[in-house]
Amino acid sequence: MIEATLTARADRLVDLLGERELDCLLVTNLVNVRYLTGFTGTNGACVVSSEERLFVTDFRYVEQAQEQVRGFELVKGERDLLSDLAKRLSGRAGFDDAHVSVRVHGKLLEAVSEGVELVEAAGLVERLRQVKDEDELRSIAAATELADGVYELLRERGVGGRTEREVARELEKELRERDAEPAFPAIVASGAHGALPHAVPRDVPVETGTLMIVDMGAQLDGYCSDCTRTFAIGQVDAAAAEVYELVRSAQEASLGDVRAGAVCAEVDAVARDLIEAAGHGERFGHGLGHGVGLEVHEGPRLAKTAEGELESGNVVTVEPGVYLPGELGVRIEDLVAVTDDAADVMTSFPKELIQLD
Ligand code: ZN
Ligand code: ZN
Repeated sequence: MIEATLTARADRLVDLLGERELDCLLVTNLVNVRYLTGFTGTNGACVVSSEERLFVTDFRYVEQAQEQVRGFELVKGERDLLSDLAKRLSGRAGFDDAHVSVRVHGKLLEAVSEGVELVEAAGLVERLRQVKDEDELRSIAAATELADGVYELLRERGVGGRTEREVARELEKELRERDAEPAFPAIVASGAHGALPHAVPRDVPVETGTLMIVDMGAQLDGYCSDCTRTFAIGQVDAAAAEVYELVRSAQEASLGDVRAGAVCAEVDAVARDLIEAAGHGERFGHGLGHGVGLEVHEGPRLAKTAEGELESGNVVTVEPGVYLPGELGVRIEDLVAVTDDAADVMTSFPKELIQLD
C-alpha cells in the first residue's frame, strides 16, 4: 500500500474527528484497521488523532506489520491489544460502539487515564470507505473483470444437467484458480428456487426450461465484486422471458439515474416504480443496491428507506429483482462506480437473456 494513500485516508479521518469534536479515535474493527493502516493480519488496532497515529499488534504480526503498515508508529503490544492502546487515548476519545462489546467497553473504561471521556463513534471510518480512491477503484474493477471471466466460462460450458451445488462449487473453484477468493458463497438457484433472493444451492440438477439465477463475486487484494445474472436453461416460456425483460428494463432505468447528487431513495424508486406498474411491486422485496468495497455489503444503500445522496467515488450495485413464489426469480446486478455525471458500469458481462444448455 502506498504511504501517500494511507496518509490521505487518515487525514480525512482527522477532519471527521474535528466535525464530531473528538480528540482521537480508537479503531478496532479489522476491516477499518486494514483500510487505514494497510495491515491484513487478524490482530491489530490503531489510534488516530491530529498529532498521533499509532498501530499496535502482538509479536506474531510484528514483521508483517513492518512490511505493510505505513504512516503509523508501530507499537508491539500483548495479545490483548486494547489495554495497550487505551493508555494512549486522550481527551474525548471515540470508539466503535457498533463493534465493541459491553465487556470490552468495561475494560477500556478501566484502562484509560483519568480525564479521558469515551465517546460512541461508530461508522466514521465506514463513512470514509464509502468514497473510493483511485487505488480502490482499480482493485474493484480488477475483481469485477475477474468474475466476468468466470461468467464467460459458465456461458461456454453451460450446466449440462449438473446440480445447483456443483455449478456453484465450480464457479468458486474458477475464482480461486484465478488467484481470487469468492467474495461470498455463490448463489445458483433454478426454477421456483430462484424465487428466494438468498437461495442456497441445492443438490438437485438445474432444471431445463427454467430460469437460473447466479449471484457471484470475487475478492481480490481485499476488494470485492458482486454480480448477478439470470440465465435461461434451454427454452423458457414467454411469461418467464417477459419478467426477465421487465427486470432488465428496470435495471437499465435505475442505472441511468445514478450520478453524484442523486437521492439514494429516488434511484431505488426508478426501478421500483416500473416493476410496480407491471403489477409486480409486491415481488421486489429487497433494496435496489448496496455499496461494495473491502466488504461486499457496505454503504451507501439504495433503498426505499435509504437516506442521503450518492457521491462521486461511491461504488454500488444496481440489482432489482422479481420473485414469483412457486414459479421463478429474476435478478440482474451490475457493479457501478458513481461519477459526477453518470454511472461508470464496471460489470461487462452481457445482460440479454442468455440461453445455456
Ligand atoms: Zn450479488
Ligand atoms: Zn449485491
